[in-house]
Amino acid sequence: MKILVSRCLLGEKCRYDGKCIPDESVIALGKEHTLVPVCPEMLGGLPCPRTPCEVQGDGRVLAKDGTDRTAEYVKGAEEALRICLENGCEKAILKARSPSCGKGIIYDGSFTGALTEGNGVTAKLLTENGIEVENR
Ligand code: SF4
Repeated sequence: MKILVSRCLLGEKCRYDGKCIPDESVIALGKEHTLVPVCPEMLGGLPCPRTPCEVQGDGRVLAKDGTDRTAEYVKGAEEALRICLENGCEKAILKARSPSCGKGIIYDGSFTGALTEGNGVTAKLLTENGIEVENR
C-alpha cells in the first residue's frame, strides 16, 4: 500500500521549531508499505524554522505575530493532495494537533496550548477528497 505521511513523523526536521518528533511505528511501516512523505507547510512555501501558526475560529490561519498565512496553508494542502493522488496513496498518516496535519483535534488559535475540535487545513482537504486520514 502507498501511504502519505507527515514528513516530521519520519524524522525530518521540518517542524516550525526546526525539530522533528520521529514516530518509530510509522517509520516501521516503511518495511511493508511505500511511504510518501510530505510537509504541507513547507510545500506551501513557508521556511523552517518558522513562526508557529494556528487555525482560528473563522478558518483563517494566523501566525503568532498576527500574519495571515491562510494562503500558504491552502497551497500546501493542495500540493499534498496532488502528491497523494499522483502517487495513488490509499491513506494518510499525519501528525496530530498540527494546524495542517491534525484531524479532529487541533490547537484552538489562542497560542496557549489549548485544544479544540477541528481539522488542520491539509487533513480537511484530504478527507474531503476521500482519503482516509489517521493521526499519530
Ligand atoms: S506541516 Fe505537518 S508534516 Fe510539516 S512539520 Fe507540521 S505536522 Fe509535520
